[in-house]
Amino acid sequence: MKHKNQVFDNVLDLIGQTPLIKLNKIASKFKGNFYAKVESFNPGHSSKDRIALYIIEQAEKKGILSPGDTIIETTSGNTGFSIAMVSIIKGYDCVLAVSSKSSADKIDMLKTMGAKVYVCPAHVSADDPRSYYQVAKCLHEEIKGSVYINQYFNELNIDAHYKSTGPEIWKQTEGKITHLVACSGTGGTISGTAKYLKEQNPEVKVIGVDAFGSVIKKYHETREFDEKEIYPYRIEGLGKNLIPTATNFDVIDEFVKVTDEESAHTARLIAKSEGLFVGYTSGAAMQAIMQLGEQGAFKEDDNIVIIFPDHGSRYMSKVYSDKWMNEQGFFDSKNEAAAQNIQYIK
Ligand code: PMP
Repeated sequence: MKHKNQVFDNVLDLIGQTPLIKLNKIASKFKGNFYAKVESFNPGHSSKDRIALYIIEQAEKKGILSPGDTIIETTSGNTGFSIAMVSIIKGYDCVLAVSSKSSADKIDMLKTMGAKVYVCPAHVSADDPRSYYQVAKCLHEEIKGSVYINQYFNELNIDAHYKSTGPEIWKQTEGKITHLVACSGTGGTISGTAKYLKEQNPEVKVIGVDAFGSVIKKYHETREFDEKEIYPYRIEGLGKNLIPTATNFDVIDEFVKVTDEESAHTARLIAKSEGLFVGYTSGAAMQAIMQLGEQGAFKEDDNIVIIFPDHGSRYMSKVYSDKWMNEQGFFDSKNEAAAQNIQYIK
């Protein structure tokens, strides 16, 4: 257990044991108690610290990795940052293939953390040789002694959350959690956490959050991979154009889809109402709560836990930029003045 007055051996000792924080305002018009699992309290500012440390340590235990080896991954940014951080402490080289959809801030951060970065086009199919999956595969074949984390198809991604996030939430809610709401990208977070929670209490309802333009929700409902569902969207880290094996669809009860625009406004609202500066997918997860709340999905005594995966600072050039919001047309429909809170004194 982490303590505020403790001295730590290195930054990796601070991974996990993130706080569960009650949301007092944003969902107060709905029945139920709402709590956010705020993953930006990890030292790498996201939930991905958990899987980076866990998967690398499993590889070390199996004798696959030794210092000086290279770790390769495909990532929208957060996993890359976490792997880079773990690599620094443990003495590995870190090579990352990222989507061109990732923000410039995220790519700069990866470079700052010593990673070598390949930026690949976002809107090509997963089997296109230019896609970040194929680029990573190729690098793995070329670089001797390399390990490919492959978070979308690595069962250890689920295990990491089964062993940490799930037990933490169970303990923090004293077993009183009734609903888990989490975004699904690789699906590792929701699958591992849900598996643990449902083993403790099969009645816990698990709701995944998906994007319009992603195949995940339809696959969950029909077990059909429908290419027609795919089109570009702006939220990074949520939804997919393929079916990851790191998603255990059997432990998820339902998926809710959210729009780029509403998720962006809800992310801003979290900051303004709760004082929590969190990322775009936290806005998406909260937006799902808003939609479910409007439908009367929650009861007075429900304890709903929402995962907030990362920190707002990673989205300064996107969701938290008025210029970007304007360019997307996100201010139009809500008639929200871009510079509402700013007065320029001349
Ligand atoms: N939010 C953000 C910002 C992410 O980077 C990711 C990971 N792609 C997720 C949510 C979803 O987490 P998971 O991959 O465990 O489903």
